[in-house]
Amino acid sequence: MKVLVINSGSSSLKYQLYDMTDESVLAKGLVERIGMDSSILNHKPTGKEEVTEVSEILEHNTAIRKVLDMLTDPEHGVLESVGEIQAVGHRVVHGGEAFKGSVLVTGEVKSEIRRLFDLAPLHNPPAIMGITAAERNMPGVPQVVAFDTAFHQTMDEKVYLYPIPKVLYKKHHVRRYGAHGTSHEYVSKAAAEYLDRPIEDLKIITCHIGNGASLTAVKGGKSVDTSMGLTPLEGLMMGTRSGDLDPAIVTFVMNKEELSLSEVNSMLNKHSGLLAISGSSSDMRDITDGWEAGEPNETLAFEMYEYRLRKYIGSYAAAMNGVDVIVFTAGVGENSAIVREKVCQNLTYLGVELDKELNKIRSGDPRRISTPNSKVEVLVIPTNEELVIARDTHRIVQEEK
Ligand code: ADP
Repeated sequence: MKVLVINSGSSSLKYQLYDMTDESVLAKGLVERIGMDSSILNHKPTGKEEVTEVSEILEHNTAIRKVLDMLTDPEHGVLESVGEIQAVGHRVVHGGEAFKGSVLVTGEVKSEIRRLFDLAPLHNPPAIMGITAAERNMPGVPQVVAFDTAFHQTMDEKVYLYPIPKVLYKKHHVRRYGAHGTSHEYVSKAAAEYLDRPIEDLKIITCHIGNGASLTAVKGGKSVDTSMGLTPLEGLMMGTRSGDLDPAIVTFVMNKEELSLSEVNSMLNKHSGLLAISGSSSDMRDITDGWEAGEPNETLAFEMYEYRLRKYIGSYAAAMNGVDVIVFTAGVGENSAIVREKVCQNLTYLGVELDKELNKIRSGDPRRISTPNSKVEVLVIPTNEELVIARDTHRIVQEEK
């Protein structure tokens, strides 16, 4: 079965085409600047030359049509016809409490995703645009949705509720939902496979640290706690997001600086984190360069980031009464040996012992970076959210047959 995986953002659309007989990627690509002048389609067919096309793409419907044209293009394509695509899988950020796993798209499912617009105003509307566009361009082809929140639906009430008036949960569904669920699920399973141990026996802390960053405590294969909350703002210090802070800061700063709701929201989501402290960049590569060069602002940003990350690991070890495995993944987790080294340096009380040489090796494969004596296995596992969506899509469509 050939499955097209689509990840729609407000002005972008990422895609990957899988052949599920061997889970190989036939092509992948990205449409950027949808709705702006000179939209860009970058297409990477496996075994063929990469191609970039600039054109006017005003909305997601045209973006998908262009992608399908490219996939069937005689020169750059990988398919004879669009009809070869037997299913489409979509990434949806927010599934609220309604979705505990991936599901086949129906009218009711789309209505529920729309009802959740309030909770994910930036993310769920483009997902609906992507689904509608795919339905229009590939009529009759089954569509599946995978939710970033679904994996965390196993959290206990005592974990997902906030200690605020309960009526806010009843009326407005204010609770912890978490995010990056497909990634946390994928790397925790991959860790158990790599170690050749049953996941049911393991306490794993998965560190998904990219531009956005979240940690999950995975006990017996289930998410028992995660650092992102009602929205992806809570938790770790991120590229441009603050992560945890005293909630009173919000009203205090709004009052002092006469900020509106949207201004304070933008401050915490787009102008905080590494960017705010360094004053120069939200990218960990730049921060590390500055730290190595002894720049004071980048050094402080680096130290705050590492400190907050380490504190969360400690708290999740406490939440699970122990930890067997720590997994690093996503942009920073997979690539930054220095962040991993500094974090692990201060986890010796847990019995973590890092092999500094193994930690420095660059590879796209899952790998162990702890010593044989380490009480905790420390692994680097490249994440693959698209593959999880493709697998779910394939399974659900097969079951429907
Ligand atoms: P997103 O959250 O957007 O999916 P990614 O998981 O792709 O992000 O992570 C992107 C981030 O990874 C970059 O902003 C950068 O900070 C970080 N990164 C990528 N490569 C490196 C590297 N070699 N060293 C340190 N950080 C890196």
